[in-house]
Amino acid sequence: MATFDNTEVRQTYRSTLVEELRASGSRLVGGLEIMLPQNFGFCWGVDRALAMVEEARRVYVGRPMWLIGSIIHNPRVNADLRSKGIGFLKGSFATEGALEKLSENDVVIVPAFSATVEDMNDLRARGVTIVDTTCPWVIKPHKRTLKYLKEGFTTVIHGTVGHEETAATCSLIESEGGHYVVVYSIEEAEVLASFLEGQCDEQAMRSGIRGGSFSPGLKVDVDLQRLGVINQTTMLASESRAIGDRLKLALQARDGEVAYEDNFRDFDTICRATQDNQDAAAAVADTQPDLYLVVGGYDSSNTKNLARVGRRLGVPAFHIEGPHCIGDKLQHRDHTSGEILEEGAWLPSKRPLRVAFTAGASTPDAVLGEVIEGLVEFAGETLVI
Ligand code: SF4
Repeated sequence: MATFDNTEVRQTYRSTLVEELRASGSRLVGGLEIMLPQNFGFCWGVDRALAMVEEARRVYVGRPMWLIGSIIHNPRVNADLRSKGIGFLKGSFATEGALEKLSENDVVIVPAFSATVEDMNDLRARGVTIVDTTCPWVIKPHKRTLKYLKEGFTTVIHGTVGHEETAATCSLIESEGGHYVVVYSIEEAEVLASFLEGQCDEQAMRSGIRGGSFSPGLKVDVDLQRLGVINQTTMLASESRAIGDRLKLALQARDGEVAYEDNFRDFDTICRATQDNQDAAAAVADTQPDLYLVVGGYDSSNTKNLARVGRRLGVPAFHIEGPHCIGDKLQHRDHTSGEILEEGAWLPSKRPLRVAFTAGASTPDAVLGEVIEGLVEFAGETLVI
């Protein structure tokens, strides 16, 4: 399965409206100007993972098929796979006891964001057939962290504790006897930098960085001497760069201008699709639309960061999951607290009104199209497709 054909996937999730808008970039609908960025939606890695699932369904027809958890972070896509008879081994849709009963006849799909070393070892021990859809971009931080480990560096991961990709990276480091620190934001990196510069003690540093961020048994006096930075592939690229720069400054301050070079490494592992989507989202936000709706699963890291791109450029950007979020109150994920909130009076009454949309790398065009149609209808305009 080295090559893949995404025709079927794209056909399943196509939207005529989005295709039109992708070609034109914008469209006037009554008093609304609807805008889309140059890059958005399904990335190469998602296309590939879903095409691999369809191929596996053809090759292993009749055999029980499972996902460890979500294939990608989109509720529509995961529901579609469940409706095709693919079970879940973990998470809220898990079939009770299925994991323990796996045997040689079962087929297990590893998601695009990879799996932990423990899960992979368990699957191999049970003799199941493994369909590994791990995105090649996710392998990049894995390779880099193994290089750091070989050279005696502790890995600093700009990522989200609990996200499948970062959990897999952490488990890889642990399995090789190495250490890591996960920082979620520039604020958490600042706490780590302050400790490295001797401005706070270990307790303050550990409590200033969210729980679960340190490898078990990490000794700060030994394991924070040499640091190599990587990023979860879907983080905010500008923030990743700022984190690398801040930690470099901290080691320069601690070790001196020359000596720090032996103790610091920084390697950009943001994936191309994330970078392209963020750049395109920023270009649209730069035109200062009146409203920016960012569509994607609430647990989708790259979608969360697209919303942050809009907010950082001063645009009222909302991360919403789908058409069901549009109504008198807009359901959205708060970009700072992560809570799912409802916003009243969210649609400005002024006309003309410039509304931009974008979608995460795991968001089907069909869902984005339904959101645009929902917004137009809610605004009292008529869309002719
Ligand atoms: S967002 Fe990037 S890393 Fe994730 S599946 Fe897509 S291409 Fe791969």
